[in-house]
Amino acid sequence: MNSKTPVIDLSQCVGCEACLALCPDVFVISDTGYIEVEQMDDYPMDCVDEAINCCPTNCIQWKNQ
Ligand code: SF4
Repeated sequence: MNSKTPVIDLSQCVGCEACLALCPDVFVISDTGYIEVEQMDDYPMDCVDEAINCCPTNCIQWKNQ
Protein backbone atom coordinates (compact mmCIF):
# COMPACT_ATOMS: atom_id res chain seq x y z
CA MET A 1 0.00 0.00 0.00
CA ASN A 2 1.22 3.45 -0.90
CA SER A 3 1.98 5.56 2.16
CA LYS A 4 1.10 8.82 0.45
CA THR A 5 -2.26 10.24 -0.60
CA PRO A 6 -2.90 13.35 -2.66
CA VAL A 7 -5.04 15.93 -0.90
CA ILE A 8 -6.61 19.09 -2.29
CA ASP A 9 -7.01 22.34 -0.40
CA LEU A 10 -10.46 23.17 -1.71
CA SER A 11 -10.26 26.69 -0.33
CA GLN A 12 -7.56 27.35 -2.96
CA CYS A 13 -8.95 25.25 -5.83
CA VAL A 14 -10.25 27.33 -8.74
CA GLY A 15 -11.85 24.38 -10.53
CA CYS A 16 -9.65 24.64 -13.63
CA GLU A 17 -9.83 20.84 -14.05
CA ALA A 18 -6.15 20.56 -15.04
CA CYS A 19 -5.73 17.74 -12.52
CA LEU A 20 -8.71 15.92 -14.02
CA ALA A 21 -7.25 16.18 -17.49
CA LEU A 22 -3.85 14.92 -16.37
CA CYS A 23 -4.91 12.24 -13.93
CA PRO A 24 -8.58 11.32 -14.41
CA ASP A 25 -8.33 8.07 -12.44
CA VAL A 26 -7.35 9.99 -9.32
CA PHE A 27 -9.12 13.35 -9.57
CA VAL A 28 -12.86 13.46 -10.17
CA ILE A 29 -15.69 15.95 -9.81
CA SER A 30 -18.11 15.23 -7.01
CA ASP A 31 -21.87 15.59 -7.24
CA THR A 32 -21.53 18.96 -5.57
CA GLY A 33 -19.07 20.19 -8.20
CA TYR A 34 -15.89 20.06 -6.16
CA ILE A 35 -12.75 18.18 -7.12
CA GLU A 36 -12.29 14.99 -5.15
CA VAL A 37 -9.53 12.44 -4.77
CA GLU A 38 -10.60 8.85 -5.41
CA GLN A 39 -9.79 6.32 -2.72
CA MET A 40 -7.01 4.11 -4.07
CA ASP A 41 -4.58 1.67 -2.51
CA ASP A 42 -1.78 2.95 -4.72
CA TYR A 43 -1.70 6.31 -6.40
CA PRO A 44 0.19 6.77 -9.68
CA MET A 45 3.09 8.95 -8.54
CA ASP A 46 4.09 10.37 -11.94
CA CYS A 47 0.55 11.34 -12.82
CA VAL A 48 -0.18 12.97 -9.47
CA ASP A 49 3.18 14.76 -9.49
CA GLU A 50 2.32 16.17 -12.89
CA ALA A 51 -1.02 17.40 -11.57
CA ILE A 52 0.74 18.95 -8.56
CA ASN A 53 3.16 20.76 -10.87
CA CYS A 54 0.40 21.99 -13.17
CA CYS A 55 -2.11 23.11 -10.54
CA PRO A 56 -2.25 26.91 -10.94
CA THR A 57 -2.85 27.54 -7.24
CA ASN A 58 -0.55 24.82 -5.87
CA CYS A 59 -3.39 23.39 -3.83
CA ILE A 60 -2.58 19.68 -4.36
CA GLN A 61 -0.14 18.10 -1.94
CA TRP A 62 1.02 14.64 -0.99
CA LYS A 63 0.04 13.72 2.53
CA ASN A 64 1.68 10.91 4.42
CA GLN A 65 -0.88 8.45 5.70
S1 SF4 B 1 -5.52 21.66 -10.91
FE1 SF4 B 1 -5.67 22.59 -8.86
S2 SF4 B 1 -7.00 24.39 -9.12
FE2 SF4 B 1 -7.27 23.10 -10.93
S3 SF4 B 1 -9.07 21.84 -10.45
FE3 SF4 B 1 -7.24 20.65 -9.86
S4 SF4 B 1 -6.93 21.12 -7.68
FE4 SF4 B 1 -8.31 22.69 -8.52
